[in-house]
Amino acid sequence: MKVLRLLGLMVLATASIGADGDLGCLLWPAVLLVWLLPVDYVVMDARRRGVSSVAWGLAVCIFWLPGLLVYLVARPQGKLIKCWQCGRKKPIRDMICPHCGTQVA
Ligand SMILES: [Zn+2]
Repeated sequence: MKVLRLLGLMVLATASIGADGDLGCLLWPAVLLVWLLPVDYVVMDARRRGVSSVAWGLAVCIFWLPGLLVYLVARPQGKLIKCWQCGRKKPIRDMICPHCGTQVA
C-alpha cells in the first residue's frame, strides 16, 4: 500500500507547511496515518497469504483494531517462505504460489 503511505506523508507535509504554530492541524493527518497503519499491514499480509487483500483491507479500514484482531485470528495460519520463482512470500503449506502460480514440489 505504497499509495496510502505516500498520501499520508503528503497530507502530513501539507499540514506542517500550512501550520502557523498551530499544532491542531497536525492532529488529523497523524490520526489518519495511525488509522492506516494496521490497514497497510493487513493488505500486505493478506496478499502474501493469498486471501482477499481488498476485502480485509476494507474491513480493517472500517473496524480498525477489532477488524485487525478478527483478521489475525481468521487469516490462514502458518509460516511464510520465499517463493523460489518470484521471490515473494507465500504460506509454507501452499503447493502453488498465490503470486506467480508456480507449483512447488
Ligand atoms: Zn511465486
